[in-house]
Amino acid sequence: MFHFDDYNIEDFDDYAIEELTKIVKKLKHIAREYQFGSEEFSFFVDLGDRIEKPIRIRKDNKMIEEMNKEMNFEELKTKVEEWAKDKDLLHEENAEKQFMKFIEEVFEFKSEMDVYFDGAETLKSLNKEYMEDEMGDIFVTLIVLCNQLGIDCVECLEMAYEKISKRKGKTVNGLFIKEEDL
Ligand SMILES: [Mg+2]
Repeated sequence: MFHFDDYNIEDFDDYAIEELTKIVKKLKHIAREYQFGSEEFSFFVDLGDRIEKPIRIRKDNKMIEEMNKEMNFEELKTKVEEWAKDKDLLHEENAEKQFMKFIEEVFEFKSEMDVYFDGAETLKSLNKEYMEDEMGDIFVTLIVLCNQLGIDCVECLEMAYEKISKRKGKTVNGLFIKEEDL
């Protein structure tokens, strides 16, 4: 049971703020509703059949800074690789299985996207978070797969961009068609 009432940020030391920030980031995924105002962060935690308790935390600049601090793609890629290395996944012979894992995540994403497009308007923001969750899984499985095969995924992206940036063509029915295929 949650027993949080209003807290002032002065009540917390640096360590507590850091930990709290992590918790808040996680809770955002299960919170039914949340607001990220300029001075206050509040959210409602879904406790199933138990009471819903609003948690309000007044922020100061340090906390806003913490919450906005995001790792760039390369940093996150390295973190994912470290995690995979720790789990003993980074071997070429695991690539086939990893590929299937990637495909599995692609379809999980598709299921969430279907719900997003079919679902009630009021549930869209929640469904969007489920889509984000699955898209994140796709990236993780891809990063691991690339590493197992000795492929640098950032280089792949650079190469692909280089290719499409020079490509001529046009968009037909919402899809880009290469000039030679028109
Ligand atoms: Mg998944």
